Amino acid sequence: HFDVLVVGAGSAGSVIAARLSQDPACRVGLIEAGLPPSDPDIADPLQWPALQGRPYDWARRTVPQPFTAERIHEWPRGRIVGGSSCLHAMAHVRGHPDDFASWEEAGGNRWSWRGLLPGFARSETSDAGPAEGRGRDGPLPVHLPGDDEISPVVRAYMAAGAALGVPAIADHNAGELIGTAPNSLTIRDGRRVSVADAYLTPDVMARANLTLIDDCMVEQIVFDGASARGVLVNRPDGAETIHADRIVIAAGAVESPLLLMRSGIGNPETLKAAGIACRLDRRAVGRNLQDHLLVLGNVYAARQPVPPSRLQHSESLMYLRSDGLHHATGSPDIVLACVVAPSVAPGLAAPPYGSAYTILCGVTHPTSRGEIRPGGPRATDTPFIDPRYLETEHDRALFRTALKTAREVGQQQPLDAWRESEVLPGPEAQSDADLDAFIARAAATHHHPAGTCRMGPDEEAVVDPDLRLVGLDNVFVVDASVIPRLPSGPINASVVAIAETWSALAPTLR
Ligand code: FAD
Repeated sequence: HFDVLVVGAGSAGSVIAARLSQDPACRVGLIEAGLPPSDPDIADPLQWPALQGRPYDWARRTVPQPFTAERIHEWPRGRIVGGSSCLHAMAHVRGHPDDFASWEEAGGNRWSWRGLLPGFARSETSDAGPAEGRGRDGPLPVHLPGDDEISPVVRAYMAAGAALGVPAIADHNAGELIGTAPNSLTIRDGRRVSVADAYLTPDVMARANLTLIDDCMVEQIVFDGASARGVLVNRPDGAETIHADRIVIAAGAVESPLLLMRSGIGNPETLKAAGIACRLDRRAVGRNLQDHLLVLGNVYAARQPVPPSRLQHSESLMYLRSDGLHHATGSPDIVLACVVAPSVAPGLAAPPYGSAYTILCGVTHPTSRGEIRPGGPRATDTPFIDPRYLETEHDRALFRTALKTAREVGQQQPLDAWRESEVLPGPEAQSDADLDAFIARAAATHHHPAGTCRMGPDEEAVVDPDLRLVGLDNVFVVDASVIPRLPSGPINASVVAIAETWSALAPTLR
């Protein structure tokens, strides 16, 4: 029997288990479907794209997407101690302060930029220069690469942005986001630091009041009236119920809503179609699914060999406003990134490694919203994941602008020494229709699904501002699924800040 049972040892779960077990009187159980990492490639930043499809990847897939040429999109997700932070690309971006206005609307001050700052700071040890709210002694190392670590191709690309008037800023974690900066990375001494590496250290794992239960799949929540009693799990040696006073679901934006729905919490019709009896009518579970897409990519054949990255291939981000590249403040609406390798979507031919580089482009605040539904009552049933990519004209139009901007940057003089010719979309792709057709074939997930158990003050919301599941007094959801609206950048830093903020609040919750 535990005081608190955390489901999922991913980015959020690792933080929560480490923070709550600081109190020796609090017995914390941490359940994880996967095992601790044993693949040495996980620690090597250059290997991150190669980890997908390995045994510790949930390897989820979307349903065919009408606006991306009917393609099915692969969704890697970590099934391992460390969760998706063992597979991710290590970019650490807090977001723009304005990004959190919708969070504040959903949950009050605590979830505003100002409210989240202490959580961001507590999580980080940054080696970047001074800035308000920078963390100096937190578990997660945030490394701002120096000039000498950045590829000469990327330095030329950054100069190409400057040639168009894009501000050069020191880094993307000091408040302002618009501009070009090296990519801040959760890398220490050349090695990936997952959130579990950072928080679940040997000292933390040695605490008598913290128990990791790995290789353990949570099937559903077990109830006692309006409270949860524990969870029903499947382990290699059979099924059992693990009991706890409180349950914190931190299974990620794909699995958390599925676990709730398997437990009978969701839209009654959706549950019925999956053969699940409804216990609590909460229609928003699984809805509000949002994800960042990237177009892979605006690829260039290089005039000279492209040296391999010393980091994780993608060494700089450029956040922009589509209505003028000279803007220096505010929340961006498009993003570019330079990858020192050919980066193309599945189905498109890539030039050989070392002979090409890519400018990726994306939309920071997509308005398309999708849904996740269970395929059946068991954890082994394949879910329906439908992000409805590019369903809105807003997203399609901004992607067109983003791709045009990538090309404009790619043609600037500072890249002359590197650019031989454009390979993709290719010189023949000029009309808006050509660009739209290319975007539909080249869009791929940026791996930031969120929002499927959204926080809100309204009756429909899945969790309240304390992240308590509305309608159940001792179940909380604390992970990427509570995010009401995506921040501008990659979301791992925000997920960690959510978990830090909730962990500080937890002892006060009745
Ligand atoms: P996860 O970290 O996914 O944790 C969920 C955990 O719960 C997993 O360990 C899972 O195995 C476990 N679990 C799920 N269901 C069950 C169950 N039924 N029983 C038991 N355990 C269960 N973000 C960035 O900020 N920067 C990047 O560069 C970046 N790149 C990415 C690249 C890739 C390939 C991927 C996959 C993600 C990337 N992300 C990036 C996103 C980021 O990693 C995630 O948003 C973040 O890790 C989500 O944290 P989470 O705690 O919500 O979920």
